[in-house]
Amino acid sequence: MADTPYPHLFESLDLGFTEIPNRIVMGSMHTGMEDFFWHYGELAAYFAERAANGVGLIVTGGISPNRAGWVAPLAGRMTHLGHVAAHRRVTEAVHAAGSSKICMQILHAGRYGYHPFIVGPSDRASPITPFKPRRLGLRGIARTITDYIRAARLAQRAGYDGVEIMGSEGYLLNQFLAERVNDRRDAYGGSTSRRQRIVTEILAGIRAAVGPRFIIIYRLSMLDLVEHGQTWDEIVTLARTVAAAGATIINTGIGWHESRVPTIVTRVPRAAFAGVTAKMREHVDVPLITTNRINTPEAAEKLLADEVADMVSMARPFLADPAFAAKAAAGRAADINTCIACNQACLDHTFAWKRASCLVNPRAGRETRLNFAPTDRPARIAVVGAGPAGLEAATRLAERGHHVTLYEAGSDIGGQFQFARRIPGKEEFAETLRYYRRRIAHTGVALELSCHVEAATLVGAYDKVVIATGVVPRRIAIEGIGHAKVMSYAELIAGHRPVGRQVAIIGAGGIGFDVAEYLTHERPAPAEDAARFFQEWGVDPAFASRGGLVEAEPAPPPRAVTLCQRSTHKAGRDLGKTSGWAHRASLRHKNVAMRVGVTYQAIDDAGLHITCDGQPECITADTIIVCAGQTCERTLYDALRESRQRVHVVGGARLATELDAKRAIREAAELAARL
Ligand code: NAP
Ligand code: SF4
Repeated sequence: MADTPYPHLFESLDLGFTEIPNRIVMGSMHTGMEDFFWHYGELAAYFAERAANGVGLIVTGGISPNRAGWVAPLAGRMTHLGHVAAHRRVTEAVHAAGSSKICMQILHAGRYGYHPFIVGPSDRASPITPFKPRRLGLRGIARTITDYIRAARLAQRAGYDGVEIMGSEGYLLNQFLAERVNDRRDAYGGSTSRRQRIVTEILAGIRAAVGPRFIIIYRLSMLDLVEHGQTWDEIVTLARTVAAAGATIINTGIGWHESRVPTIVTRVPRAAFAGVTAKMREHVDVPLITTNRINTPEAAEKLLADEVADMVSMARPFLADPAFAAKAAAGRAADINTCIACNQACLDHTFAWKRASCLVNPRAGRETRLNFAPTDRPARIAVVGAGPAGLEAATRLAERGHHVTLYEAGSDIGGQFQFARRIPGKEEFAETLRYYRRRIAHTGVALELSCHVEAATLVGAYDKVVIATGVVPRRIAIEGIGHAKVMSYAELIAGHRPVGRQVAIIGAGGIGFDVAEYLTHERPAPAEDAARFFQEWGVDPAFASRGGLVEAEPAPPPRAVTLCQRSTHKAGRDLGKTSGWAHRASLRHKNVAMRVGVTYQAIDDAGLHITCDGQPECITADTIIVCAGQTCERTLYDALRESRQRVHVVGGARLATELDAKRAIREAAELAARL
């Protein structure tokens, strides 16, 4: 591509028998649509939209080669001809949309499956499912290899350009490869070559069955990040074996699902793990794909220019913006709706058996159902509140052709995202604000900042009003709440008031946790840095030790923090399924004390007085921060309801309980599609 700012990213890749139009891989992401054939029309539309926007290579969500390999009951399988027709809808739609290639991922979950038929190299249970695996016998292994080969042959019949064999993240093949799970002493365990044998047999069998003109990607765990994982020498041997057995491309896998090192959430610095792909490059000749926390064309281009890898895989960024590749190609990277790595609507959904979508793009996975058609009756619409809900409503309505004015009382857009982006490890939230600024400019929304709009201004001046005034912190009644040492989280983050060395936080919800992170990291936060991250979480920066792990050395916190809640359940119970554990671990590293089941008694010069298990106690604190949840801010809504003005309410202003940006943006998008 001649005049792209990303020449490496948009260079084609010649595989000899076929050409991939550029170096951008839409990595595998289980959406939930793969599991039932009646969702394949939607799945086809989802992939076709990404293909039409120029992604080079698509890898589907995981499809099991047999029943035992299901991730969950009734998950997608490719086991007989009857499955081919549904998949053909996907491949035909993708090929009709552009020149993208598409590979079906074959994933056998092994002991990670969430059902009673699970199998593994041993009967060692995993910590992430309650089911105990059955140890595969030699006949079972032979059948499993045959099943992989059959799945690949059927994928070829369905029109796929290739398959990806999932050999990482702790799934079945990874389980065979590591002594952590593989305790066998037969032909498939013991020595390195015997542990690797199943992989070699599967690849050689697939290559023989599909012929030379079919892409085979092997997703290779280059860093297990678990105890008793593979050594670097074993991993290099495997890569060479895999290439010799017929793999066309090797993709990078980082960490098992049971690993206690975050590998993809927001706090992981961009491209932190790409160094391991670079390290592999000198050992194999086949093209390598690098992956994990790469979410901008700039980052991807740099990795290719630095010869870290031959291709760059991004999975979640294609949920966040289906036009990622087209915008990058056109030099419009600033218009990309950037994945903020929150996991809230994608992986948290997947692990709760719900359809994956995206917090910043609720249309993801609903391409046939949530659309923003141009209106034939443009209306004058006021949107009040420029937090996530108001921004989404205003820009979607304007995109449809309405005349939209967006009022914001504060001096900038963003609402709760202005707090979130200041939390260490959540800096990516600033990208969403950059995206909405661009959208406001492009869609022609009239933005009125520092404008506390009254009902009288709106009534009669607009055909419709959308209230997105969000939430206000809950006021709580504790003796001494007016003490000078008490502040709200908003006051803390605004940074106008000094914070002491001993801090108590009232409320251990999402914001209490965020505030604890904020208080236990240095200020100003140091630049994002893979080396610091590895030190904090115990990753060997040379990727040389077994499993890639070393002793963690978290930086000492600048102050002592105690996080309190009245409920007796574990603090942080309701945080995201795939990120909450990392929040809890991070605060443990910083020695944050978690007090549950407390009753607040009073605040005075000494600190926060509580009772716990009937015993009075004083948590010594020179600062106390209230993070006791939110209530709806709907003064304006109530005033408008009393007039004859047509008014709608979305986000936190509608319902503050269990509010999060995912719901706020989704509600706003759905309203904008209807109005
Ligand atoms: P939240 O998660 O509902 O937590 C509110 C906290 O305040 C609870 O710990 C609650 O615990 C306490 N509380 C409630 N009423 C109280 C009272 N009268 N007196 C003292 N304590 C009281 O609300 P949030 O922390 O404000 O977060 C708002 C939303 O944003 C939530 O949905 C949250 O999930 C989301 N969020 C998520 C994240 C994340 O996942 N990382 C980060 C930020 C925000 P007790 O009632 O047990 O005392
Ligand atoms: Fe990225 Fe969050 Fe969207 Fe998932 S939900 S794709 S992590 S922005």
